[in-house]
Amino acid sequence: MKNLPFKNCDKAFDKQNAETFIMIKACEECAELTQALSKYIRGKWHQDKISEEIADVEICLEQLKALFGNEVDVNEAKQDKIRRTALKVRRYGKKPL
Ligand SMILES: [Mg+2]
Repeated sequence: MKNLPFKNCDKAFDKQNAETFIMIKACEECAELTQALSKYIRGKWHQDKISEEIADVEICLEQLKALFGNEVDVNEAKQDKIRRTALKVRRYGKKPL
């Protein structure tokens, strides 16, 4: 990578690699949390592992928001989803599934 002929190409390549790494790492950490939860449900893993994997995913989520520059949009979407869920709970919360 250091032998690329143009300095700007070198920088662009580094940026693309960093972005790709962040996205791949997020996928991997979400998969690890999925696995930890699955094993916890089956009694094969400890709560400490769940905490570690949640921390990993939270770090990745912060990196993704920084990468996409969409923290405001994410917060708006989150608040909207929380409002809709609360509404559903109030409407249907007392009915059996
Ligand atoms: Mg992990």
